Amino acid sequence: MPRFDRTVESVVRSGNCSGCGACALIDPGLSLVLDDDGFNRPVRRLPLSPKNDRQMTDELLASCPGIVVKRPMPDQISGEETRFEPALGHAVSSWQAWATDPETRFRGSSGGVLTALAEWLVDSGRSARVIGAAADASEPRRTVAVQLGRNSDFLQQAGSRYAPVSVAAQGSSLSPDSAFVGKPCEVAAVRQLSEYRGDEERPLLMSFFCAGVPSQLATDRLLSELGIPVGSPLRTLRYRGHGWPGEFYAETVDGAQGSATYDESWGKQLGPSMQWRCKICPDGVGESADIVAGDYWKTDDRGYPEFTDGSGVSALIARTTRGHEAIVAAVDAGVIQADPLDLRQISSIQPYQVERRATLWARLLGRRLAGWKIPRYVGFQLLELAFERPLRSARYMYGSFRRSWVERFRR
Ligand SMILES: Cc1cc2nc3c(=O)[nH]c(=O)nc-3n(C[C@H](O)[C@H](O)[C@H](O)COP(=O)(O)OP(=O)(O)OC[C@H]3O[C@@H](n4cnc5c(N)ncnc54)[C@H](O)[C@@H]3O)c2cc1C
Ligand code: SF4
Ligand code: SF4
Repeated sequence: MPRFDRTVESVVRSGNCSGCGACALIDPGLSLVLDDDGFNRPVRRLPLSPKNDRQMTDELLASCPGIVVKRPMPDQISGEETRFEPALGHAVSSWQAWATDPETRFRGSSGGVLTALAEWLVDSGRSARVIGAAADASEPRRTVAVQLGRNSDFLQQAGSRYAPVSVAAQGSSLSPDSAFVGKPCEVAAVRQLSEYRGDEERPLLMSFFCAGVPSQLATDRLLSELGIPVGSPLRTLRYRGHGWPGEFYAETVDGAQGSATYDESWGKQLGPSMQWRCKICPDGVGESADIVAGDYWKTDDRGYPEFTDGSGVSALIARTTRGHEAIVAAVDAGVIQADPLDLRQISSIQPYQVERRATLWARLLGRRLAGWKIPRYVGFQLLELAFERPLRSARYMYGSFRRSWVERFRR
């Protein structure tokens, strides 16, 4: 077996694959396919040419987020200090923002900002296309990567889709005239690959805060609970949006409807089915992106929104001067409304992101001691965060060791 394939297989076997699709961008002979657990995983469709094996393996080792994730060096506007929060990373600027078009704001996941920016980037000629994710038009149960250009309906990709999709597998992901919207691991993979190849320019990278990818099977289970059996043709399936956070909503071609609140859908069915790699994610806050958006909502102790309806507001962070300039230009063009926001205020309403990062070093150590391979995370200061509360870290380390040890013998 070629070394490239052995390396991919080892990432998948260790549970470290996020399904980002970057390996298929390196080698289009791979496809990302749903496995039995309902997650996208790379599968070989076309043979690999042996003469490419070494170069492709090196690219994979430098970019696959199941192998390595590096925190990028901070960018800054000359003369101004970069802001920093341990759980959120570096920021050139931070904002609360929403799309000025009411329909985009309504259909968007939070403020519809990523959709508004995507459409404006293409309309203004700054990008030739935007790569993102949307419901599969012929089977809305599934989520697919899309490329949108002039005259596309950008609202089709508004809203979060809590299901597997591999955006980084898209062929134009590295083109400097693209804009790329993806999960933080997808953006990290694209940036790391572009940097490894020494590209002089890369696409504008946009991302969103990400707790993790649920299994496709969880969507099917939720639909069944709502009285929509597997196999009945759907007209619509959305996970949220149409309000903030909006409901999970499905409609069959016969007009039967089912819906569930955010708490019922994400909290009870989708969230608990999340893949392993997401539980050890060092960066659910898009540190490799130029621009990242998240929910800017009031939460209870568990990090759940305290209200279920309203006009959406996104927390928006520019990580780079390029991202900052794009946000300022979009505000000037009247596409988004954005008011400055302290980074600490964003951190305070993202308890899950804060907790996952603070306990990560301990959980990784437990996993490693139980004999599992773990990805290499560079520059995230995880050890310092773990030592802030040593007793808690020891507890997490033991819990992770125990679960990972048992898992070894189940496989
Ligand atoms: C898997 C997942 C986990 C999330 N976890 C958190 C969280 O922990 N905390 C939090 O604050 N918010 C979370 N969100 C919501 C996210 O932060 C909001 O989508 C963000 O605020 C952007 O809102 P918006 O209204 O500006 O985006 P919109 O204008 O609605 O645009 C959404 C963009 O996301 C892209 N997209 C949607 N689903 C996917 C997907 N599965 N994979 C790749 N791209 C996709 C679309 O292409 C589109 O460009 C999550 C979203 C997803 C999809
Ligand atoms: S994490 Fe991404 S690049 Fe790595 S094996 Fe999985 S799909 Fe491929
Ligand atoms: S939680 Fe991390 S690994 Fe999982 S999908 Fe989100 S960014 Fe990728």
